[in-house]
Amino acid sequence: MFGRCLGLMAILLTAPAQALLRYELDYHAAEERMQVRICSDTPRAQQDLRLHRGGAAYVGELRRAQGRVEKSGPARWRISDWRAGECVDYTADLGRLSRSGDRDIGSRAGGSLLLAPQQWLLAGADDEAAEVRLRLPPGQAFSPPWQRLEDDGSGVQRYRLPQTPFSWTALVALGSFEEITVKPAGSAVRVAILGDTTPAQRRVLRDWMRQSLDAASRGYGRLPLPFAQVVLLAAPGTGGRRGVGFGQSLRGQGNAVHLWVDPARSLQDLNADWTAVHEFSHWAHPYLADGGAWLAEGLASYWQNVLRARAGLLSAGQAWEQLLAGFERGRRTMPDQASLAELSEDMHARRAYYAVYWSGAAYWLQVDVELRRASGGRLSVDLALQRFAACCLQPRREWAPQAFVARLDALLGSDVFLPRWREYAARRGFPPLQALQDELGLELSADGKVQLREAPAAAVRDAIMRGEGDAGARR
Ligand SMILES: [Zn+2]
Repeated sequence: MFGRCLGLMAILLTAPAQALLRYELDYHAAEERMQVRICSDTPRAQQDLRLHRGGAAYVGELRRAQGRVEKSGPARWRISDWRAGECVDYTADLGRLSRSGDRDIGSRAGGSLLLAPQQWLLAGADDEAAEVRLRLPPGQAFSPPWQRLEDDGSGVQRYRLPQTPFSWTALVALGSFEEITVKPAGSAVRVAILGDTTPAQRRVLRDWMRQSLDAASRGYGRLPLPFAQVVLLAAPGTGGRRGVGFGQSLRGQGNAVHLWVDPARSLQDLNADWTAVHEFSHWAHPYLADGGAWLAEGLASYWQNVLRARAGLLSAGQAWEQLLAGFERGRRTMPDQASLAELSEDMHARRAYYAVYWSGAAYWLQVDVELRRASGGRLSVDLALQRFAACCLQPRREWAPQAFVARLDALLGSDVFLPRWREYAARRGFPPLQALQDELGLELSADGKVQLREAPAAAVRDAIMRGEGDAGARR
């Protein structure tokens, strides 16, 4: 929701052969220490390894069999004449990191640790490929956003570290927590449940995740990503009336969604909340930075309603009510003096969340309706994002918002995403939507209820919430 918008789908893939750093991790649960060994299969004349600022406080001395390790900065080390097959060893004090007092770098949930890997796992350059082998003591579990590789049967977990910018936020969970596997639409998503829960509560959480991930796969018949991390942080009383307190989407070292939830709530309560489907919807677009926040949050705000309707978690009428209510919140809080692009850049400082989220949702709705009307239902936002996933989503880089929408047009042969993007980005004030609402036959009564009337684009309206015209339905 607000803030960084990124879990654990384990699709088992085999890594391609290439020169890479190999990490061997051995966790000692009693002392909450990780023994780290980093090895290179190829000789390296000079290799820099680094942590995020402050990380040096959590790692012990780096050792190698021969030669020295030079400390080249506050959180940076340099290894010269690294011979093929040689390794560097150190110990990371994860217990201490978990008591950092900063949730972004290290915290505890129940008896489990939630840790930023960049604070303790030394990394090479941004584009450095790496493979991890992890040995855990019995009863311990590990949940990273990394790509899980096929188990070699030795009881060691194997991962490929996705190559993302080093500054992007990531968190790994470590401890004696429960992990469940949810299988929406041909995927397998592993969900870590941190905090104290009863078996009955975990059944409810599992059903909630199954239904939310099923909804998230209704964009085009499957989840956008082959793997991601999902962490539920369960604490009684979280989230007040809604039962879901906070969600965040992270993109460091892979994609992740972390959700704070009251485990005592009923499935019905949890399903009435939009947060989970909102966060999962962020998997469908690339990282768009602050300037693209309105596009990113707009898509998640549009899809949190559309996809829940398609999955039967909302009726079509309820979904339209939620959308129109969101537009109204955006309109009421929209400042007149700034363009949407400016507001988006400055969203957190101005606390302009409603204005940015719901202007963005209006963009996606308007584009979706135009595409569907002009093509007789052949083209849609769903199809554009499905094609984008096939060509462009996996290489984990930042996209300039304009390049992203231009690519969506190119993928459909349309001329809608980019012109509308220009218009929305430059506009001051909330987009006027009455004509679109009339065209769709959405009549809003004084009590906030929506009547679905006969209208020129009533068929498009109904198709959006049924998922007709999406590629999944046509296959
Ligand atoms: Zn969001």
